[in-house]
Amino acid sequence: MCGIVGYVGDKDAYPLLINGLKRLEYRGYDSAGVALIGSQGLRIHKCQGKVSDLEAHMRDVDRSGNVGIGHTRWATHGAPNDVNAHPHVSTSGDLALIHNGIIENYAPLKEELRSRGHTFRSETDTEVLVNLIEDIQRSEEVDLPEAVRLALENVVGAYAIAVIDRKSPGMLVAARKSSPLVIGIGEHGEHYLASDATPIVEHTKNVVYMEDGEIAIIDRTKGLKIRNVKNQEKTPFIQALEMHLETLEKGGYDHFMLKEIHEQPRSIRDSMRGRLNLAQGEVVLGGIKDYEQKFVNAKRILILGCGTSWHAGLVGEYLFEELARIPVEVEYASEFRYRNPIIHEDDIVIAISQSGETADTLAAIELAKGRGATIIGICNVVGSSIPRVTHAGSYTHAGPEIGVASTKAFTAQVTVLTLMALMVGHKKGTISGSRFHRLLNELDAIPSKVEQVLKNEAQIKYIADIYKNATNALYLGRGYTFPVALEGALKLKEISYIHAEGYPAAEMKHGPIALIDEEMPVFVIATKGASYEKVVSNIQEVKARKGKVIAIVTEGDTVVKGLADHAIAIPETPDALVPLLSVVPMQLISYHIAVMLGRNVDQPRNLAKSVTVE
Ligand code: GLU
Repeated sequence: MCGIVGYVGDKDAYPLLINGLKRLEYRGYDSAGVALIGSQGLRIHKCQGKVSDLEAHMRDVDRSGNVGIGHTRWATHGAPNDVNAHPHVSTSGDLALIHNGIIENYAPLKEELRSRGHTFRSETDTEVLVNLIEDIQRSEEVDLPEAVRLALENVVGAYAIAVIDRKSPGMLVAARKSSPLVIGIGEHGEHYLASDATPIVEHTKNVVYMEDGEIAIIDRTKGLKIRNVKNQEKTPFIQALEMHLETLEKGGYDHFMLKEIHEQPRSIRDSMRGRLNLAQGEVVLGGIKDYEQKFVNAKRILILGCGTSWHAGLVGEYLFEELARIPVEVEYASEFRYRNPIIHEDDIVIAISQSGETADTLAAIELAKGRGATIIGICNVVGSSIPRVTHAGSYTHAGPEIGVASTKAFTAQVTVLTLMALMVGHKKGTISGSRFHRLLNELDAIPSKVEQVLKNEAQIKYIADIYKNATNALYLGRGYTFPVALEGALKLKEISYIHAEGYPAAEMKHGPIALIDEEMPVFVIATKGASYEKVVSNIQEVKARKGKVIAIVTEGDTVVKGLADHAIAIPETPDALVPLLSVVPMQLISYHIAVMLGRNVDQPRNLAKSVTVE
C-alpha cells in the first residue's frame, strides 16, 4: 500500500510524478504529495484526498524542478489528513522522505529523537525515519546514502522509501525491505523510481527491480549505484520490461473493474496459452516442470493467500483433492504465520497473490521455506517479491489489474490451479485418461463460455437495479461453488458497502436462515451437478421464508427457474470448472449495484490493492 514515485533527470519532474501517481493510486488514495528540488530549493506540496486534489492544489504553485518524489498514501499511522500526508520533512527542513510500509519501533525512536531536539508535526511512523536519517547525517557527519544505511540498521519493520536532500540537489536515495521498488533507466542519464513498473513503462523499458536490503543512489551526474545494507556495491541487474501501455488504460470502459470483467475471456485464455496443449493432450507448466515429481509425491498441499486469492485457494482445494487425491489445507497467510504451524519437508505450499507483494503471504512463505517445504507461487505481477522468494511458480498472465476489487486475477488464479491439479492428477494417474482429456477440452472452451455469460449483462443490470437498496445479502454455493459464494459476497461488500455473507448452502439452516425475510436477496449458485438437488431444496427453504432468490443456473434449467425470483443462465460445464463461469455474474451484479449507488468502483473506501502491510 502507498505508491511511491521519483524522478532524477533533465526534464520537469512534476508532470512525470503526477502521472505516475495516477497509475499508482490503486495502492492508496488517502492523500497525495510531492517534493521537488529546483532553483527555488526544496518545496513540498501535499493534501488529503486523491491525486486529482493534489493536481488542483498544484495549479497555482511553482512546479519547477528536475528532481522529485511523489506519494499516494494508504494510512496506517495517523488519520488521512494534510499533516500526515507524505512527503515528510526533517526538523531542519533539509530532507523530504516518502515511505510505503510500517516502522514498527517508531515510538521509542521518536522519544529518543525528541530528547535530541527533533520536533514532530504528524502522527506518522514515517516522520520518525526522516528525522532519524537527519540525526545520523549530522552526528556521524556522513553523506545522505550512508545516513540512510545507518538509519535503516536501527529500524524494525517494512519499508520502501525515497529521500531527497536540499543540500544534495541532484540526488535521490531509495531503499527497500519487504515493499517493492523498481528503477527505470531512461535516456541521457535520467532515472525513474516507482512502487511498480506502471508509471515507468511509458518512459523506458529498461528496469531494475530492487532486492530487499538494497539501497539505490541515483545521482544526476554519476548515474545509478546500488549498495546493500552491509555497504557492498552491487551491479544493477537491468531487465527488459514486458508491459504495454494500452493495458493500463480504460479502453473505452467507464471503470477499470468493468474492463477487467470483460477481459476475462482473454485473460483466462492467456493464462492457459502454451500450457494447455489439446493436440498433444497434455498440460505443460514450464515454471514448475522441475517440481512435478514433488507434487506427485506430496503428502499434503498447503495453499496460502489473503482475500480473493484465499477464495481461489479454496477452489484449488476442491480441485487438488478431487483430481490429484492430495489432501489440501487452505490458510489465511496472516493466521498461518503467527500460529507455529506444522509443516513437513514433503509439503508443497502454493502461495497465491495477485500483486506478488502481499506482506502476510510473503512472511508465511518465509516461514514455510525455513521449515523445508517446497514453495510454488501463483502471482500476476512479473518481477514482484513473491515470485522471487518461491522455488518455482506459474504466473497468471491476467495483465495489469487496476480495479481494487479483483476480478480477472481471480479467474486467472483458478485457471492456473485447475491446470496444476489436472497436470498432477494425470501424472499420478488419479484421473482416468478419458476424464483428463474431457476436462482439457472443457477448459479450453471456458473463454468462449465466459463470453456467453457476459452477454447476460443487461439482465444482470436489471436485477442490480431491483436489489441495489438492500442492506444485507446472502450468497450460497455448495462444493466447488461455495468459494464463489464467498467471493460474490466479498465483491458486494468491497465496492457497494452492502453487508453480505457467503455460506455453504447447507449451513444456512444453522444460523443465517434467521435473517431471511422478504427484504433479503439470496444469491444462489444452483448449476446442474453433484449437489444440484440439494441446492434446489435450499432454495425451497429460502422461498418458504419469503426470501428473494437470484439463482445462477445451467442453461436449459427449468426447475430452479420456476422457483427463483430471477435466474441467470450460464453454459453447461463440469462441476470443477463452474467457478470460472459462475463468478462472472457475481462480479457484474456487484459492479452495477455499486455504480447505481454512486460508489467509487475502482477505488472503494478504506481499501488498497496491494496489501504490503500486515
Ligand atoms: N506508515 C505510513 C503512513 O501511515 C505509510 C503507510 C503505507 O505504506 O501503507 O503514512
